[in-house]
Amino acid sequence: MAEFKTHLTGGMITGISIALAGNLFLGLNPVQTCAVFLMGSAGGILPDLDSDSGKPLAILCSQLSVLIPALLVDRISRDVNNSPEFLISYFVLSYFFINNIICEIIKKVTTHRGIMHSIPFAFLCGGGAYHLFMPSGRHMAIAAGAALFSGCIVHLVLDELESVTIKFGVIPVIKKSCGTALKFRSSSGLATAFIYILTIFLFIKIS
Ligand SMILES: [Zn+2]
Repeated sequence: MAEFKTHLTGGMITGISIALAGNLFLGLNPVQTCAVFLMGSAGGILPDLDSDSGKPLAILCSQLSVLIPALLVDRISRDVNNSPEFLISYFVLSYFFINNIICEIIKKVTTHRGIMHSIPFAFLCGGGAYHLFMPSGRHMAIAAGAALFSGCIVHLVLDELESVTIKFGVIPVIKKSCGTALKFRSSSGLATAFIYILTIFLFIKIS
C-alpha cells in the first residue's frame, strides 16, 4: 500500500490538472475550479476508506460528516424553517450519525483491498460526483466527476506500483499484493454485484 502522503499528493496533482483544464476549456469560475481540485484530492485517498486504521479513514470520515450534510442542507431545509435550532440539530446529529455510525459500519463490513479498491468503485464515485454537482451545470458536473474518478484511478495505480520492488538494485520482485488494487471485482461476489448495480443505476439516472 502506498503511503497516505503519496496518495494525497497523487490526488492533488490530479485535482490541479483537471481543475485547470476545467477552468481553461469549460469556463469554470474560481470557486468551481477550487471544488474540482478538492474532488481530485479526495479521490486520491477515497479507496482507502476500506483500511480499518490510521489517517485516511479518520480524515475521510470527519470530512464526509461535514460535507454530506452541507451538500444536502438545501434539499432538506426546503420543507422546514431554516432556523438556528434546525441548523444546530441538523449539523450536529448528521455529523455524529455519519462519523460514528456510518463510518463504523463501513469499517466493519469492508476488507482492505476489497471492492473499494476497484475500477467499478472509481466509476461509482465519478458518477456520484457528476450527479451531486449537476445543479451547478453540466460542465461543473463533468469536471467534478472526472476529478473524483481520476483521483481514485491514480490511487489504484499507485497501490499497484507499490507491489513491485527492486531487489539488489536491479531485480524487480512482485509482491503478493499485485493485482489487488486495479481490478474489476473483489473476492466477495455480493460486494461486487452491489457496486455494479449501484453504478449501473447511477449511470442510467445520469443518461
Ligand atoms: Zn489503497
